[in-house]
Amino acid sequence: MKYDYLLVGAGLFNATFAALAREAGKSCLAVEKRNHIAGNIYTENVDGINIHQYGAHIFHTDDKECWDFVNRFAEFNRYTNSPVALINGKLFNLPFNMNTFHAIWPDVITPEQARKRIAEQAGEVKTPQNLEEQAISLVGRDIYELLIKGYTEKQWGRACTELAADIIKRLPLRFTYDNNYFNDRFQGIPIGGYTGMIRKMFGDTEIRLSCDFLANKNELPQLAEKVIYTGTIDSYFDYCFGELEYRSLRFETDKYPCQNQQGVAVINHTSASVPYTRTIEHKHFEVENKDGFNAPYTFVTREYPADWKRGDEPYYPVNNIRNSEIYQKYSDQAAKEKNVIFGGRLGMYRYFDMDDTVIAAINCFKQQVKP
Ligand code: FAD
Ligand code: UDP
Repeated sequence: MKYDYLLVGAGLFNATFAALAREAGKSCLAVEKRNHIAGNIYTENVDGINIHQYGAHIFHTDDKECWDFVNRFAEFNRYTNSPVALINGKLFNLPFNMNTFHAIWPDVITPEQARKRIAEQAGEVKTPQNLEEQAISLVGRDIYELLIKGYTEKQWGRACTELAADIIKRLPLRFTYDNNYFNDRFQGIPIGGYTGMIRKMFGDTEIRLSCDFLANKNELPQLAEKVIYTGTIDSYFDYCFGELEYRSLRFETDKYPCQNQQGVAVINHTSASVPYTRTIEHKHFEVENKDGFNAPYTFVTREYPADWKRGDEPYYPVNNIRNSEIYQKYSDQAAKEKNVIFGGRLGMYRYFDMDDTVIAAINCFKQQVKP
């Protein structure tokens, strides 16, 4: 065997694994089917501005070990995500906080008044059974109708009454005038973009780009003692228990001849009649990049949710009972594979944020070196 590990996919999970393996004196070969590293956190410098090519990525975590780990490979800026929601020509602050409540209900000024107004509207829901009921019980019917229903149904391609309640619990709900989208202690964007951070994590690891593991499934595993696989778990097993569902996205980017197009990095478009969910103005992620920020042009990306079919990019796992049952079968099968470990958002079929991904990869590595 030439290598200790064959890493399938050059995204954040395997970059983390590669950094730890290298430091422990283990050798790795990475294969990546795209023509670049970094998976979905890939950023590309276009005319001096770093573009998040697969959607806006803001690193945030409460885990000190994770934060210290990523800071070894990049200097992070102090970016705080404060997106706004746009509907019918009006803007509202996110996540749901006192600024949002006051804008929607002008007579609501104190936290107590906000809680009372929500309770009045939520009274109709006792034990939430789905996303609609969960949302109404958390923020009331007015906010659900304006800021949640349209966005969520576009994003997931199905009615809120058919979606798991948990999805909406990702968002903070606050009774303070604080527009920070995340509750975590640590937050930022790597200065210069994510691709440089991932490059540093891989270090001198050999990487073969434009190489699909599944098209070379017989030969590639012969090269290493173990395989760390971060592609879709159902494709690895040739869909033998059926297809898992994913949600896909389409991105359209335009260059505008102005310095500042929307005044904020992220606008959520919550109306059902607007076909995209978010517009991203990339330069706002790195205001310390003065040349990029002051340039007399800017890039804005529209993010359109899309149904997924084989061959499309699988961005989001769809967490429902059907998929959990199918995933469990694949997971049981995976446990029988002696030399293959399944990791990351696609290999573990989890709605992982970047910090979850890093933590999962650190844990995976710790399991490997366990005496
Ligand atoms: P990936 O990044 O998907 O990497 C897997 C790699 O494996 C890919 O490069 C793929 O091409 C490759 N691959 C797959 N199959 C094969 C094969 N057969 N052969 C070879 N290579 C293969 N998280 C946050 O914390 N904050 C955010 O703001 C945030 N925003 C997001 C926005 C969007 C639109 C999306 C989709 C995700 C967002 N995330 C965010 C989550 C974040 O993208 C993930 O946590 C992280 O990228 C997962 O890393 P990974 O290595 O598991 O997967
Ligand atoms: N959401 C919403 N309105 C918004 C933003 C989010 O209803 O303006 C809901 C939607 O259901 C979404 C979920 O909250 O899927 C989680 O939002 P988040 O911003 O975490 O989504 P992600 O960045 O993972 O796409």
